[in-house]
Amino acid sequence: MSGHGSAQERLDELVKVIAAEMVAEVCTVYVMRAGEVLELFATQGLNPSAVHKTRLRVDEGLIGDIAAHARVLNLADAQSHPKFAYRPETGEEIYHSFLGVPILRGGRVRGVLAIQNEAKREYTDEEVEALEMIVVVLAELIAGGDLVSRSEQITAEGNAILPMRMTGIRINSGIAVGEAVLHQPRVEIPAMFADDPDAEEERLQRALGEMQDAIEDLFSASELSERGEHRDVLEAYRLVARDAGWLRRLREAIAGGLTAEAAVQKVQDDIRIRMNMATDPYLRERMHDFEDLARRLLQHLSDTPLTAAGDEALPEDVVLLAANMGPAELLDYEPHRLRALLLEEGSATAHVAIVARALDIPVVGRITDLLTRIDPHDPVIVDGDNAQVFVRPGEDIQQMVAETIQAKTERQRLYAALRDEDPMTLDGQRISLNLNAGLLIDVQQLKDTGADGIGLFRTEIPFMVRAEFPGVEGQTELYSRVYEIADGKPVMFRTLDIGGDKQLPYFHDVAEENPNMGWRAVRVALDQPSMLRQQLRALIRAANGRDLSIMFPMVAEVAEFESAKSILDKELAREQNRGGAVPSNLRVGVMLEVPGLMWQLKPLLKRVDFLSVGSNDLFQFLFASDRGNPRVARRYDVLSPSLLSLLRNLVLAAREAKVEISLCGEMAGTPVEAMTLIGLGFRTISMAPVRIGAVRAMLSSVDASALETYVDSLIDLPDHSVRQKLIAYAQDHNISIDAG
Ligand code: PEP
Ligand code: MG
Repeated sequence: MSGHGSAQERLDELVKVIAAEMVAEVCTVYVMRAGEVLELFATQGLNPSAVHKTRLRVDEGLIGDIAAHARVLNLADAQSHPKFAYRPETGEEIYHSFLGVPILRGGRVRGVLAIQNEAKREYTDEEVEALEMIVVVLAELIAGGDLVSRSEQITAEGNAILPMRMTGIRINSGIAVGEAVLHQPRVEIPAMFADDPDAEEERLQRALGEMQDAIEDLFSASELSERGEHRDVLEAYRLVARDAGWLRRLREAIAGGLTAEAAVQKVQDDIRIRMNMATDPYLRERMHDFEDLARRLLQHLSDTPLTAAGDEALPEDVVLLAANMGPAELLDYEPHRLRALLLEEGSATAHVAIVARALDIPVVGRITDLLTRIDPHDPVIVDGDNAQVFVRPGEDIQQMVAETIQAKTERQRLYAALRDEDPMTLDGQRISLNLNAGLLIDVQQLKDTGADGIGLFRTEIPFMVRAEFPGVEGQTELYSRVYEIADGKPVMFRTLDIGGDKQLPYFHDVAEENPNMGWRAVRVALDQPSMLRQQLRALIRAANGRDLSIMFPMVAEVAEFESAKSILDKELAREQNRGGAVPSNLRVGVMLEVPGLMWQLKPLLKRVDFLSVGSNDLFQFLFASDRGNPRVARRYDVLSPSLLSLLRNLVLAAREAKVEISLCGEMAGTPVEAMTLIGLGFRTISMAPVRIGAVRAMLSSVDASALETYVDSLIDLPDHSVRQKLIAYAQDHNISIDAG
């Protein structure tokens, strides 16, 4: 808004201007307040002492009727309307004709604007349209938060003063408190009215041209990468961007006196209201396209930055809101400010989820209308565990959450106190506790957790957050940083595990029926060895004469290991020839993730320096149960006799062959499951950094040899799961299996 003075003064001024322009004897503005009450905020023509006194409920009187149905009322004789409510304090009884329009913003009614005249007459279509234009200004003024605070505006819609609660799906657990920040900031509308419609039309045309060019660029870039689905989305965009109806409405709004920005906003508000009423999923889907296009157009019209990442005024505790985002975009924010991420779309396997997990922030996805229902600066509590979000939470919820956070912090403090002690069982078994890492932030956790090393470095994650394939040099630099930060602690590098659900944006991806069982990991590496060779070269160079541990993912047979190993040998020879340093101690192993490899243990154990069990994949293939499919997620339990039996055989065989064995799937980070692994004979496990504390506490309260005898007794049971038995054992023996 342009202009000076307080919001109330501007509003008073506006009603005068509107009354004069519309040749109306009365002009009034009602604003929605908490508890669904419409309060008279300004008037020209009615008794000024009624301002801030006259209040109507939604659906009460003509004003309430307009708010309740978000529709225009145009009446030649207002008093004869069944909804007319007489309010003596206003002195409006002498005015017959009445025209009222809802003030809409973000798909919600924020107030009502009405004009009245003494003479009985119906207002013309032009007059109705003019009023509809004007309410855009009022909507902005109200949303500014000076007339009615933002907190009140939130509680004003929906159920009175109850805090708003939204739900979605859990993408990452945890609890956080912070301030809402839109990843893609809303564009401020600098001025509502323009004196020169031609100039505005020209600005609109230029911005439209720029926007269409940008979309074409995206489109041709996607053609190069042949990403089918992506192209379809862009094709739809292209059509919408040229939609004749949309363009016409924009022009009409400008011809009506609005600035180009205000025109975009007004047309968008209209579309939102209409589409919100539509039940057709196709139409609702299209609405997202319009929303996105309107946003892009506003960005081209103004110089608003695309994302909030570089905003210097970001609050200390950011709860980030986005429709969706890529993993690299999340990393653009300073990690110490990020408290939580909320998405309108998103899924647990989305790449941004992997990064959010590495950052240890809760993520809730698939929250309907997230971006229109939460305003910037709203205080938000994110409960990732239960996939819910509290906006403007009440005292009771704040209190409850504060207690939960306090309890967590206390546990963390307890764990931190144990950090510098060697993880040891009651009977003196030294257990090696390691971290799973993918980003440098994870590696930095070595210090804070006191872990022994990195048990799994997922090298594909740095690839996934980059816009292009990092060459040998880029990779060498990255792995050198890992060595540097690890500061002498061992790191197990896993070669690229791409494919499956981990697609690289720049890598030719082929649609597969069963991507988890498709062209992924070592299969890709062996079919396109140059990628593996580059990676191995970078690892050897980064090691620069230090120890180097490498493991290959998803190996299904010994022959695959042999092939991968021979590529490594070639790279070692090559480095030696060029005078480079070779690792002082090179250890090469496989991840045991494919059950078939169990039937080649003898030849395998003769060839590898170590085995690392990838229980996530092993479990899904053992039970033929997709790890990403929620329908079967709870059908089988990792604490089932069959998986325990398999793991027990594996530990015994490795022990006999004197080959090191470890486990780095999710189960290593869940205390009761980690306890079971100790009972099965594992002495090295690896998990997400946040899990270390709870597992360490479990270890210091367990007698490993007594447990081993007990776990052995479970292996031949016919049970579906032995989880309850193990939990009971832990309770009887005072073993801490608190999840932390
Ligand atoms: C596993 O499969 O258990 C594993 C650790 O690898 P990822 O989760 O990366 O597939
Ligand atoms: Mg795996």
